[in-house]
Amino acid sequence: MTDDVVNFTYMLRLAYDFLHGGRKFQIKSNRKDKKLVSIVFPFSELVFAAKAIPIFPIRLEKYKVNTYLQALNSASSVFGWKTVTNFLGFVRKFDVLKVFDGIIDDLIDSLNDKYNEMYDIGIEEGISNDFCYGIKSLYGMHSSHQGIYDSNVNVIIRCSAFNKYYESLKRYHKNLIWLDIPPRNIGNALELCTENVKDTINQLEKLTGNTINDNDLRKYFRISNECKQLYREIIYDISSSDFYPCNPATFSEILALLSLSFQDFNSDAETYLKNFRNLVKEMKERIRKKIGKDVSNMPRILLTPRFGGWEPKSHEYIYDMGGRLLYADWEILGVLEPVEAYTYTDPIEAYAKFLMNTTTIGIGCDQNALTDSYIRVAKKMNVDGLIFTQLFGCHSISNCYQMLREKIRTELEIPTTMITFNKIGENLEQVKTRLGAFMEMF
Ligand code: SF4
Repeated sequence: MTDDVVNFTYMLRLAYDFLHGGRKFQIKSNRKDKKLVSIVFPFSELVFAAKAIPIFPIRLEKYKVNTYLQALNSASSVFGWKTVTNFLGFVRKFDVLKVFDGIIDDLIDSLNDKYNEMYDIGIEEGISNDFCYGIKSLYGMHSSHQGIYDSNVNVIIRCSAFNKYYESLKRYHKNLIWLDIPPRNIGNALELCTENVKDTINQLEKLTGNTINDNDLRKYFRISNECKQLYREIIYDISSSDFYPCNPATFSEILALLSLSFQDFNSDAETYLKNFRNLVKEMKERIRKKIGKDVSNMPRILLTPRFGGWEPKSHEYIYDMGGRLLYADWEILGVLEPVEAYTYTDPIEAYAKFLMNTTTIGIGCDQNALTDSYIRVAKKMNVDGLIFTQLFGCHSISNCYQMLREKIRTELEIPTTMITFNKIGENLEQVKTRLGAFMEMF
């Protein structure tokens, strides 16, 4: 995996920006008078348009792997990222730079350790044990850096536990910005949602003192649309290729990292897009030159949901058992649909339409719609199997396995299994056994 990653310039860049780029905002002078707004869903366009800094809270944490990435970044500011990674690839051949052994494993491990640490803080702070892993760790993240954020955007999804968590944030934030999306697209729901988006824009304007005009909105919709299109290219085209630009387990890790960083575009939408474009270009280039791995005989398995918490060892196990594991949560939840950004459309209404669509097919937590979404994406990705994660403490999306299994049986006819999840690293033996039995089917 190390060989794969040290030659992946833009993968390193995205990882660096994700893990280290957020910490600088702890120092007020680095924010250049901009407001710091925490966010946990990939709806950062409005925050960017208000000239504020969106941040996914875990990015404020300190990671032990930072030392490597920091050294890389310092070198890259003198030589450029391309030269640095070419150099690393070159030196690696002589096995001198042992420090980079396992860099990607370190990166993912330290991120997972941090998630568990945040989970423990959440519990210590008194969050009910009945909540899912995602909510507990998010709560811990807010507690860990209370007082730093200027606000948090609360996008209302149809999970009552998640909305309780939003309410609890009043403890840490003076200003909470709300964005309510009507639960169903019936009657005047679109009108209501448009009014709600307007109201959110007003709240952001009040917080930042900046005016958000239509062109600001369109600019960030376009950036976000291109990122979504590139994301889909990776999910649908590159992931279905018989030759991968890297080891399949690294590929899974790239997918996991993309889904995390996609929430706030690493706080810099323009740079994120540039890195994303180059990452896709790099992947295609490596496939064309046959640098990577022939994966034609490895079954493609989709694991979902990943959003509320999942066992990251899964992709390692699946790889050891001869498969390749894929993650596509944002596509399943409808978040990768583009927002209309034509000059003749009203951007506020266009955003409301986009939000209504995501709530209808994904984040509305309607089990029938959600299971249809799993099937739709699994079909389009043409996967060979599906693993469903049943989260402890989730009474919404995690309860639909029976329904999903029935739909898979009648519509897809591919093997499926379910694994339970409470906390990273817990129950590893059980996960391994279950995945082993599942992989036997191939
Ligand atoms: S739907 Fe389930 S996994 Fe998602 S936030 Fe709610 S409880 Fe957690």
